[in-house]
Amino acid sequence: YQIKPHDINRALSRTLFLLDKQTLFHNIEICKHFAEGLPMVPGDIQQLNHVFMNLIINAAQAMGGNGKLSLKTEHLPARNQVLIEISDTGPGIPDEVLPHIFDPFYTTKDEGEGTGLGLSLAYSIIKEHHGLIEARNAPEGGAVFSIELPLDMPET
Ligand code: ADP
Ligand code: MG
Repeated sequence: YQIKPHDINRALSRTLFLLDKQTLFHNIEICKHFAEGLPMVPGDIQQLNHVFMNLIINAAQAMGGNGKLSLKTEHLPARNQVLIEISDTGPGIPDEVLPHIFDPFYTTKDEGEGTGLGLSLAYSIIKEHHGLIEARNAPEGGAVFSIELPLDMPET
């Protein structure tokens, strides 16, 4: 891990830039709700980009290439954290899937389409950053993945 301060809004924008040319994203509306003046977050940007890419591709796949992808960032000063939320207008996560979603090799996708490793890797990366990643369903439907990253990292 190479820990340096990074602009998360910029990292998310770059990830979107890399992905939105792909066919899967042609009919997906992307909404950015980025906080202004978001503090820099200490982290390994390659690892974090990997997490963002996985979550964004999962969302696009869940929506079958049709729907709205929302990316939100927020500074939580009271908790000294940055919050990142990636939400979609897909079918959401079934109740029986939710408890296993971060397990290695857990996938509901057909063979060859998913390895089930994306979210378990994301979980490990966020844990290495002393952060938290959670999945839930939005009241209006669709899945929401939230990531909390601390602004001060303990020395390792
Ligand atoms: P994979 O994408 O290879 O299946 P992941 O670890 O990335 O593996 O995801 C595990 C499972 O979590 C998926 O197979 C899917 O069932 C569920 N999942 C992930 N993201 C979403 C989402 N945005 N909406 C609904 N289900 C999701
Ligand atoms: Mg995946």
